[in-house]
Amino acid sequence: MDCVFCKIVRGELPAKKLYESERIIAFEDINKVAPVHALVIPKAHYDSFIALPDTESELIVELHRAIQEVARLIGVADTGFRLVTNNGKTAGQSVFHLHFHVIGGRTLELKMG
Ligand code: 5GP
Ligand code: ZN
Repeated sequence: MDCVFCKIVRGELPAKKLYESERIIAFEDINKVAPVHALVIPKAHYDSFIALPDTESELIVELHRAIQEVARLIGVADTGFRLVTNNGKTAGQSVFHLHFHVIGGRTLELKMG
C-alpha cells in the first residue's frame, strides 16, 4: 500500500522506533510539537479512527495497552501527556493510516480546537 506509515511498518522508510509488538509499532514523530511526541499505530492499515470497527476488539485493547506502555517508556505516564487522534481532513488528519499522538515533556496549552 502506498502509505507512508505502511512503508515505515515494512521498513521501507526509516523511523525512530520506540516500541514494537506483533500488531503495533510506535515511533517518534518526524515533526515533534513537544519534547516528547510519539505516534502509536496498528501495523494493519486502517484509514482513521472511525475506520477501525469494534469487531477488532482485540486490536483495540492492544492499542490501549501499547499507548500506556509507550507513555511509560518515553517517561510521560506520570508527568502527563496528551493523547490525540485526528479523524479526517477537517480535523487536521494528514496521514490516512490510523495513529495516536502521545505528546508531552512540557506544559501543554489547553487547545481543544
Ligand atoms: P496527523 O496530521 O495525520 O494527525 O499526523 C500525522 C503526523 O505524522 C504528523 O505529526 C507528521 O509530523 C507525522 N509524519 C508524517 N510523515 C512522517 C514520516 O515519514 N515519519 C514520521 N516519523 N512521522 C511522519
Ligand atoms: Zn498505511
